[in-house]
Amino acid sequence: MPAPLKLVDTSPKLPEAADAVVIGGGIVGVFAAYYLARRGMKVALVEKGRIGAEQSSRNWGWCRQQNRDARELPMATKSLDLWERFAAESGEDTGFRRCGLLYLSTSEEELAGWARWRDFARNVGVTTHMLNGAQASERGRATGKRWKGGVFSPTDGTADPASAAPAVARAILKLGGTVHQSCAARGIETEGGRLSGVVTEHGTIRTKTAVLAGGAWASSFCRQLGIRFPQAAIRSSILAVSPGSIGLPDALHTAAVSVTRRADGGYTVAISGRGRVDPTPQQLRFSPQFLPMFVKRWRSLAPGGLEGFHSGHETLARWRLDAPTPMERMRILDPAVDKATIRLTHSRAVDLLPPLKNISIAAAWAGYIDSTPDGVPGIGEIAAVPGFILAAGFSGHGFGIGPGAGHLIADIVTGNEPIVDPRPYHPDRFRKSAWGKVADF
Ligand SMILES: Cc1cc2nc3c(=O)[nH]c(=O)nc-3n(C[C@H](O)[C@H](O)[C@H](O)COP(=O)(O)OP(=O)(O)OC[C@H]3O[C@@H](n4cnc5c(N)ncnc54)[C@H](O)[C@@H]3O)c2cc1C
Repeated sequence: MPAPLKLVDTSPKLPEAADAVVIGGGIVGVFAAYYLARRGMKVALVEKGRIGAEQSSRNWGWCRQQNRDARELPMATKSLDLWERFAAESGEDTGFRRCGLLYLSTSEEELAGWARWRDFARNVGVTTHMLNGAQASERGRATGKRWKGGVFSPTDGTADPASAAPAVARAILKLGGTVHQSCAARGIETEGGRLSGVVTEHGTIRTKTAVLAGGAWASSFCRQLGIRFPQAAIRSSILAVSPGSIGLPDALHTAAVSVTRRADGGYTVAISGRGRVDPTPQQLRFSPQFLPMFVKRWRSLAPGGLEGFHSGHETLARWRLDAPTPMERMRILDPAVDKATIRLTHSRAVDLLPPLKNISIAAAWAGYIDSTPDGVPGIGEIAAVPGFILAAGFSGHGFGIGPGAGHLIADIVTGNEPIVDPRPYHPDRFRKSAWGKVADF
């Protein structure tokens, strides 16, 4: 069952030319197109399926600095401000609220890790409160359990995955940009080695700039252009319960299960980090580079099935620009849920929060989380194809940092002062060293 998602209008006509074309209407692509349009550029956003229909509507909605890797923390902090500012600037509602995130634990080791992160974050001006046992148990009273401690990060928050990307797409339309759904980009054209156009299934758009924000499809698209982008997709399953006034915190993480209040008053419930790796030729190709990542996360990952192979997003095949591509055969990646994980998630949730026992499961869905070997996204212009900017591999964090990533992409395109130091994100790092430091959280 797909995750809930609001609809957005499609522009009637594909333009013949644009200042920039953004490929992919997830949260990263819509924010990139939005910030480009705000700078007066003529922007066309092409999306093979529906705006927000892949990862960007399937996630928990957390927009967090808490426990963020040092390389991503500046972008996370800026993004929280941008989420707030977007609502004021555009008059559109993404459901963003600084509700604070609550982490509870009974493990001394886990608490020590959070305390180390608190010490590091304090130096860069991020506030987070460690909770002792009594405070944690009080904040987590809905669980009825005694906790050893916890963390509360008051400036973090959540946005609504069902409405965020569509809201930003509407803002692009208001600024004069165009949004084209059911419109796959098949490839690019070049002139004198520089990007000169984007070829879509409905025609070619002449442009000097293209941003590939294609989520789990980015590596196979790059392969067509001779660009090596190591990427792996993890299939993650999640459930939602119906609205019910059961007095839970807005966003609560525990090692067993995490819950997040949704805009409709229901809750999303999931096990953090848990997922299946569906073996595909692409996974095998990049597996040496992902070894450190898989070693670090092996406890929560399990082998999957042929789902990923059949979906086509990790194909090693070459496709033609004048014939339907795998993107047109799979408009929306809507992988099968892992039923065992859903059962386990629900039983852990009821154990953690007994009031959930009386509330029915409203929906369950899965999403492919696209990851890089070091768990940090690849954002930057590809030197071999001037004018082609890659922005993918958001490794399970891209929803919260979507505004900051979109802003940075617009800065790169327009040559403005970058909102954050772009160097930790540049995809060149995957060429220069096989193994980078894997993000801690
Ligand atoms: C279960 C789950 C929980 C998560 N929880 C969180 C969380 O709480 N907080 C957080 O920050 N992140 C979370 N994430 C991760 C987050 O959802 C992603 O990192 C983020 O949505 C990625 O955005 P994106 O725009 O890069 O990709 P996507 O949302 O996947 O969008 C890519 C889009 O590109 C389109 N596309 C691809 N190729 C083409 C093409 N050639 N032509 C046209 N269109 C194309 C696709 O159809 C798709 O719509 C979670 C993810 C999952 C699955």
